[in-house]
Amino acid sequence: MSDFETVIGLEVHIELQTESKMFCSCANRFGDPPNTNICPVCLGLPGALPRPNAAGIDAAIRMALALGCRVAKRSKFDRKNYFYPDLPKGYQISQLDEPIGADGQVEVPLGGSVRILRVQLEEDAGKLQHEAQGAVVDFNRAGVPLLEIVSAPDLRSPQEARAYWEEIRRIALALGISDARMEEGSVRADANISLRIAGSEELNPRVEIKNMNSFRFLERALAYETERQTGIYRQGGRVEQETRGWDDPRGVTFSQRSKEEAEDYRYFPEPDLLPFAIDPGHVEELRASLPELPARRRQRLVALGLQEEQVRLIAESGGRTAFFDGAMAAGGDPGEAAKWICGDLARLENDGRFDFGQPAFPAAELGELLGAVAKGELTGPGSKQVVQLLARRGGTVASAIAELGLGKIDDLEAVRAEVRQVLAEQPKAVADLAAGKQQVMGFLVGQVMRRTRGRVAPDVASRLITEEVGQ
Ligand code: ZN
Ligand code: MN
Repeated sequence: MSDFETVIGLEVHIELQTESKMFCSCANRFGDPPNTNICPVCLGLPGALPRPNAAGIDAAIRMALALGCRVAKRSKFDRKNYFYPDLPKGYQISQLDEPIGADGQVEVPLGGSVRILRVQLEEDAGKLQHEAQGAVVDFNRAGVPLLEIVSAPDLRSPQEARAYWEEIRRIALALGISDARMEEGSVRADANISLRIAGSEELNPRVEIKNMNSFRFLERALAYETERQTGIYRQGGRVEQETRGWDDPRGVTFSQRSKEEAEDYRYFPEPDLLPFAIDPGHVEELRASLPELPARRRQRLVALGLQEEQVRLIAESGGRTAFFDGAMAAGGDPGEAAKWICGDLARLENDGRFDFGQPAFPAAELGELLGAVAKGELTGPGSKQVVQLLARRGGTVASAIAELGLGKIDDLEAVRAEVRQVLAEQPKAVADLAAGKQQVMGFLVGQVMRRTRGRVAPDVASRLITEEVGQ
């Protein structure tokens, strides 16, 4: 029995976070009261003329460069005509044959390299909301600049497709061209999927699944489609080219539109906008200003010897990467810095008590902290208290150590006095330990830590407890 290969291509749409919309001066802002950021241009009223937003074009060029695309020297906009209630003009301004970028390639974690066919600039439609009394439309989103990134059908599994989409989103975030908020629909994807006999070059009719806004939906929908199409071929049937939707609660795709009903968009050059030249000198300036991209970040962190999970966690956020680099620059050990960033600081971030993008204390202080621990000036438990205080109030490691009275107790006899005090208060635990119950050791060390507020090294405390109890 022959095996099938899954062939997937993705069209990713990303809303750009420009000040104003793509062809008018209305604010580009999510969450405003419905239909407050609108004007004759984005509503398509007769006689209104669009003007392109240069910031949108620059963002598209930067994404094209980040994806290794060739940037067009001349580009133009086209009208894509169709009727839908969220499209007040009756057409979308998009790009047909002269997109801003073409022929790129991106390396995807797990997925190998994926060819990028095109990066084009277009405008978003309004948002249709279904309410009890019927459907209502918010046109605030109409005319918001939208990038469309089209991959070649190089993805071979739902997992690869997801990894590719996640990487495109990370690149957009690194470039700072989009807030890329999934829950606000800033990043959406259409997927096309077909199956073929493994090793064959022929492409079978494909199914398109439109407008997904969640990585999980994409993965589930593609997994379902793989199964469905496999079943049809195994029974000797034919897969019809069609558009299908994803019903997440039911976990199935369903037919929306067949090939016969496919729309003819009657594309033609946008008559209200002139073709435009893209100055190669300007493109080179933008290329020089590109930030470090996620793939390069990951390589760099791997080369420093960080663990896979640490690399993933740090590299996926520009803030965490910058914080890590800042701690390195202050002389911190990479592995130790990564432990803090992926441990205590990540937990504080999850609780909303620390923001790597706007840290309460400079990254250099993490380097200082690591130095103080390495030199034995601060114990492990003491360093945790310092980080808590710095995250809450800012300041320096030195001032936090002084304020918390955390200078390490180095005098062995002073430590022994603290240990004896604890043992005197815990006769039962002492008896258990003397009887060979090693598990109470952790408890006794903890008591010493509590008593000294973490100013004693745990291994020293443990050694002295053994000495004292062993007498
Ligand atoms: Zn407008
Ligand atoms: Mn599009």
